[in-house]
Amino acid sequence: GARYRTSATSSHSPGVRAPVSERLPEPTGPSVPLATLAVMTQVLVVEDDDAIGALLERSLRSHGYEVVWARSGQAAVRAAQHETPDMVLLDLGLPDLDGVEVCRQLRSGRPGLVIIMLTARDEEIDVVVGLDAGADDYLTKPIRLGELHARLRAHGRRLGAADEASPR
Ligand code: CA
Repeated sequence: GARYRTSATSSHSPGVRAPVSERLPEPTGPSVPLATLAVMTQVLVVEDDDAIGALLERSLRSHGYEVVWARSGQAAVRAAQHETPDMVLLDLGLPDLDGVEVCRQLRSGRPGLVIIMLTARDEEIDVVVGLDAGADDYLTKPIRLGELHARLRAHGRRLGAADEASPR
């Protein structure tokens, strides 16, 4: 029925490119609550590896996140200016900018952003430098999706609590 098409196109304004929600897969059935889509958490994925990026994008979308995928550091900084990410999954090994520098720039532009670094196993120095640069958390590759989603849920709860606590 019509009640499932509430807000899908209402935020469409002229001059703005098609919202990411239009690229989402079709709902699997009438039990998908559109109310949750209206408050979707946007995750900026910064990953130059096509296979890992596609895996993350697919998995995040299937869990109800809105996904913006940037394949370079400069694209990530641009995306953070033009999109409204709540969280960032940031690969440290990028082709252009150093991931740690990207972290610093994202953090200075959006202090409330949750930044989770993706690092190769045992790169302890990267982890320390990244956390010093303002990252909130890190995951080691290969990414375990169960752990990824648990971390995102934990940070999401914290974001929600901060929203409720801050006066508007
Ligand atoms: Ca990489």
